[in-house]
Formats: sequence, structure tokens, C-alpha cells
Amino acid sequence: MATSLKILFLSAEVDPFAKTGGLGDVGGSLPKALRQLGHDVRVVMPAYRKIEQGYEGVTALPLQLNVPTGAGLIPAGVFEGRLPDSDVPIYFIAQHHLFDRPQVYGYGDDPYRFAFYSRAALDLMVAALAWRPDVVHAHDWHTAPAITWLATAGQVDPRYANMPTLFTIHNLAHQGRTGWQIFDYLGLQTHGLREEGYGEVNFMARGIYHATLVNTVSPTYAQEITTPMGGAGLDGLLRYRGRDLSGILNGLDYGVWDPAGDPRLVARYDAERLQERKSNRHALQAYLGLPQKDYVPLVAMVSRLDYQKGLDITGHVLHLLMNGFAGDAQFVVLGTGAPEYEQMLAQLAGYHRDKMTAVLAYNANLAPLIYAGSDIFIMPSLFEPCGLGQLIAMRYGSVPLVKATGGLADTVLEGETGFTFRHHTAGDFWQAMQRATYVYNTDRAGWRQIQLNGMAADYSWAKSAEGYEALYRQAIARHQS
Ligand code: ADP
Repeated sequence: MATSLKILFLSAEVDPFAKTGGLGDVGGSLPKALRQLGHDVRVVMPAYRKIEQGYEGVTALPLQLNVPTGAGLIPAGVFEGRLPDSDVPIYFIAQHHLFDRPQVYGYGDDPYRFAFYSRAALDLMVAALAWRPDVVHAHDWHTAPAITWLATAGQVDPRYANMPTLFTIHNLAHQGRTGWQIFDYLGLQTHGLREEGYGEVNFMARGIYHATLVNTVSPTYAQEITTPMGGAGLDGLLRYRGRDLSGILNGLDYGVWDPAGDPRLVARYDAERLQERKSNRHALQAYLGLPQKDYVPLVAMVSRLDYQKGLDITGHVLHLLMNGFAGDAQFVVLGTGAPEYEQMLAQLAGYHRDKMTAVLAYNANLAPLIYAGSDIFIMPSLFEPCGLGQLIAMRYGSVPLVKATGGLADTVLEGETGFTFRHHTAGDFWQAMQRATYVYNTDRAGWRQIQLNGMAADYSWAKSAEGYEALYRQAIARHQS
């Protein structure tokens, strides 16, 4: 058996302790999957208010850190717990001036908050606990200060020198820009990057620049971000690191998303009992106030109503669909977001009361019933680093219809596990919708096969964790050569 690795896992979000998006899911799931592979993985995150106020199973360590910063030694406390249903240790850096606030992000001093957390995490594990990791795995800009520090100031301290790092990009849209003084605060010296304006620091760029290896959450997205269209201003730097850049799909937590065990469903089922989906369909239709028809394509969308999700091309396609241009159909959308899209969907639903319902809310109990009761699940995203909705849909036997971008392109295969379109136009989207409804209406066996292919696909964390293990070993090898 290959040797077990010591992995220091840094993330600003770790579900269930803090989650605002996909980063939290990864933070909560991937360490457990790595543990299953036999690795010694330890997680460090900030102690946000939820932790400071007392969290079951989380206790204070009898330990005070004195974190070295350009502003002197700053004290911090440490809490310790375990990731749920595992023995993976998680440490929380407690500094109530910085982290005891109602939100995770959104404050003017965010760069300082996360710079402090990053430096404190290294100080805790390496200096205080004398645990030197084989590799540091840092996620998004909030943890990039750790990578930058290790690559600069850390090189002259033998406890930290020559430590392999992996930087994972989840969301290129948030880059952590701030002023140059932050390097004084971190006690390091370095040169400017082309991506940084005069006197500016860009932590996302720094993570990409200084890490041993860089990855993102799908192979196609890893390609797309090296282009001016998808690079959010960092495509040049990403091309420069191109040899060291790869993509690993996020997994789906099969413990939570399993149609055979999901307590939120009316009827539970698996690939052998697909007919049970009908009870969920009827319950869904009843809930939505739609006629309980069978053999009519029930099309669904569960999404943040954001420009990124392709709402601009969705309106026209819904107009055609609801007016019967692909035959009879029903449509449900569950989502909240931009007022213009909420208004558009409410208006369309108003015209087509007998066919369409718009639930403009966040409803974690309704979502599973939609996955389990719908026939076609649409994700016409402008871009999508990985995407979770299509993975859940496949698992639940709803056939995804997606734009072939990012993780959607890597997981949904035209005619095999779903339907795809290439160009971000209503025309292309509509053609795919026509193909999907045509197969649904004319080829029951073919449709069923697509459902079964999707249900059989393996998008578990176990598989992703193996991909990460390979990257860790590659990063470590770089530092040994
Ligand atoms: P993103 O993280 O960009 O929002 P993903 O496809 O990766 O997109 O993940 C979206 C997740 O959020 C899915 O699990 C989806 O079911 C869920 N979701 C989105 N909107 C809602 C909503 N209004 N109610 C319930 N769940 C939602």
C-alpha cells in the first residue's frame, strides 16, 4: 500500500460549520474521503460566530497562539472538533475581533481577516503542534496567504521550508484584492505580479503564482480559465502555469443525495424501481398545483437566479416550450435571485398557470422532490466551474439538459446521460430541448436507458479523492527533485 500522507487542509468554509456555496461542500466532504483512503488529514478554518457561541462537540484547546505579524504578536485561541461521522480533526482559529461576526465574508478588512487566519493556521500546526504536513492544500483566495507566505518568508525557517502546496480554485470571480501593506502585515517580501496594479495585491493571483500545483473543479473549466473569455483577468497567469494546472471534478455526497434513502421523498427508489418515481411526480404536481399528467415531459430548474445560470436565454425557450412548440409540457422552477429574473418567471407562470409553476424561494425539502419527480433538468449556465445540480439530477433519474461548459461538459454526454448544447444562444438551447422532448415522447426505452446511464455514473467523492491524492504525490515529488 502506498504511504499515508499528512495533509493540511485550509478552507474558509467547511460544511456544516460554515457554508455559503460549493466551497463549503468540498470542505466538508473531501477531507473525509481522503481519510477513507487512509490519509492523516487535518482541517483548519476560522472560528466564526457559530463556533464562538458554542458548537456541539467543539471544545477549546488549552493553548494560546501568538501569531507573528508585521503588527507584532497577535494572540489567538484554538477550538478543536471532528468532521461529522468521522475522526478527521478540525481546528478553529479564534480571534473574536476578526471572526466573531454575523457573516463569513463581506467586510472591508476581509483580506486581513483571512491573512491572519492563514498565517495562524500554519503557526498552529507547525510551530505549536509540531505537525509538519507533507502537503498543504489551500482553497480559494482566503487561504492563498498561507501559500504566499510559505513560498517567501517561510523558506528561511527550516520548520516551513520546502513545503509542497496545492491551490484549488473554486471561484475565480472573487480574487481578494487589497493594498501592498498586507505583505508587511504578513511579514514577507516579494515582487509585484503583472496581474496586480500599482500598490495592489491579488491573493487569487498569488495562490496561482506561488503554489507548487494548481487545480480547479473540472477539467473543462481548467481549460476555459486559460482563455480571455473565462480567465477573469488571470488567464495569462493561468497559461503561464498551464503545465501545473489541472481539473478534478467535485464529488456528490451520496450519503445525502441518494434516492433510495432520501427521507424528503414521497417514494424512495433505485435503478431497479424506477417506476416509483411516479409517486414523487404526482406529489410534486399536486404541490405545484399542476395537472397530474403522465407521459408529458416535466421540465425543471433548481438554481440561483443569477446571470451565470443562463437565465438570459431561458426566457425565450420557456416561451416556446409553454406555447406548445415541442408538444405538451410542464415546467417548474425553484430559485431566488435577481429581481428581473424572478419577475420574468412569475410573469410566464402567470400566463401558463395550467403548465408552469415558479417557486421563488429557497426550499431544501422541495428540491429533492423536483429531482425525483421531473423528467428533464435544465442548466443552461453561461459558465459552471463544476455544478452540482446536474449530478443530483442524474442520480435521481431526471435527465439533464445543459450547456456544454465547465463541469457540465465533463459530466453530461449528449444522448448518453443527457442533452447538451454548445453556443450560449436561445436557438441552440431550444434545439436541445426539441431533441430531448422528441426522445421522451417517441422512444420510451431509449429515454429509460439515458436515465439508467445517469444513475449508474460514479460521481462519488471517493473517485475525486483519488485524483487529489495523485496531485499531492506529484506536488511532493516536485519538492524532492
Ligand atoms: P451553485 O453552487 O453555483 O449555486 P451548483 O449547481 O453547484 O450551483 O449547486 C446548486 C445547489 O443548490 C444544488 O444542490 C441545488 O439543488 C441547490 N439549490 C439552488 N437553488 C435552490 C433553491 N432555491 N432551493 C433549494 N435548493 C437550491
